[in-house]
Amino acid sequence: MDKQRDFVLRTIEERGVKFVRLWFTDVVGALKSVAIAPAEVEGAFAEGLGIDGSSIEGFTRAFEADVLAHPDPTTFQILPWRGEVDPTARMFCDITTPDGQPAAADPRNVLKRTLAKAADRGFTFYTHPEIEFYLLKSASYGPEGPQPVDQAGYFDNVPGGSAHDFRRSAVRMLEELGISVEFSHHEAGPGQNEIDLRYADALTTADNIMTFRTVVKEVAIEQGVYATFMPKPLANQPGSGMHTHMSLFEGDTNAFFDASGEYQLSKIGRQFVAGILQHAPEITAVTNQYVNSYKRIWGGDEAPSYVTWGHNNRSALMRVPLYKPGKGQSARVEYRGVDSAANPYLAYSLLLAAGLKGIEEGYDLPAEAEDTVWELSESERRALGYKALPSSLDRALGLMEESELVAETLGEQVFNYVLLNKRREWREYRLQVTPYELESNLPIL
Ligand code: GLU
Ligand code: MG
Ligand code: MG
Repeated sequence: MDKQRDFVLRTIEERGVKFVRLWFTDVVGALKSVAIAPAEVEGAFAEGLGIDGSSIEGFTRAFEADVLAHPDPTTFQILPWRGEVDPTARMFCDITTPDGQPAAADPRNVLKRTLAKAADRGFTFYTHPEIEFYLLKSASYGPEGPQPVDQAGYFDNVPGGSAHDFRRSAVRMLEELGISVEFSHHEAGPGQNEIDLRYADALTTADNIMTFRTVVKEVAIEQGVYATFMPKPLANQPGSGMHTHMSLFEGDTNAFFDASGEYQLSKIGRQFVAGILQHAPEITAVTNQYVNSYKRIWGGDEAPSYVTWGHNNRSALMRVPLYKPGKGQSARVEYRGVDSAANPYLAYSLLLAAGLKGIEEGYDLPAEAEDTVWELSESERRALGYKALPSSLDRALGLMEESELVAETLGEQVFNYVLLNKRREWREYRLQVTPYELESNLPIL
């Protein structure tokens, strides 16, 4: 630890860093930043930086308003978009109360706590996200709705389009920040892109996702376009998911791999998938936290709506990908439910907790879905035992409120805050008279 602190202090000196941004994340997943002068960094390492959390989402309970931000030296990076003039660096922080206790409202702490539970059972949790987002001409729009930057589709090579340049700049910047990218491509929607990050332990992945969103927004500003992670910005086009591949390791061994298992998935892997499927509806208010998230889930276009799994079934909520022979270490399972606007710390905490529950309780994996789940009739789905994901934020919150798993994993304060904040969003939404109603009702009623 001290070595890492020394390295940070030395780098600040050598590179002439002028500002150090301390980053942390609020309960809804917004990145927060406070810049300090280089001379303050040593003190921030030793004692933490005092901040008033009272107007930060989720930190609002008065008696917890004063908190300390403790920068994590292992996350020190110089921000490439700030250039060589007045170099600016950043570190992620852990938030504590003034007496040094982890702050209940800090999502990074929720994930650390859940990872520690996995570690008690000998597991390290690795994740890799496929992050989808739209590039629009601008954040403002007229009667035609938001305008994507191009009209291309899945894997399209766009001659002269801005998407290539965009992805190249974004990927370069991510690499400069120490974030490895596996691949990137144009997605199915016009202006929609996807960038997949290389797998890492889940805490690093969650930090990387927060950095990723910032990088993508910064590159968009540089290129005069607008990037959005909104789950379903265009009504008739695919939404933006953040499918996440997951694996558990015991030491150097991938605990999901079993050469003789079906799809080479071990018993632990099957139980992990069973746990997530069992608890998927109750964690959805967190993995899909906006009113708009449910427009994606129920809007078709390869977004999952039913609680199913399959090995090569893109209509399923979970997928067990097949991998090349001899690649047992890459055994993993994919959860397709999470959208690009989720708080990654909380979403990954709940996925891990649900999977661990499946292992602990020895849940049985239901039969694999072999059909395209969306094409079945309601009664066929019922006969096959396929449950639906919640149809709205309101339904999702109802299920979350009953969930012991979610309450226990998030802790009382985050749990209550999510319910409070999201119920407020639902009430505001319910009060709207939408263009749909006006268009369909006003001319005839
Ligand atoms: N955009 C789709 C979704 O919302 C996913 C498409 C894909 O399979 O990559 O989940
Ligand atoms: Mg995709
Ligand atoms: Mg995928």
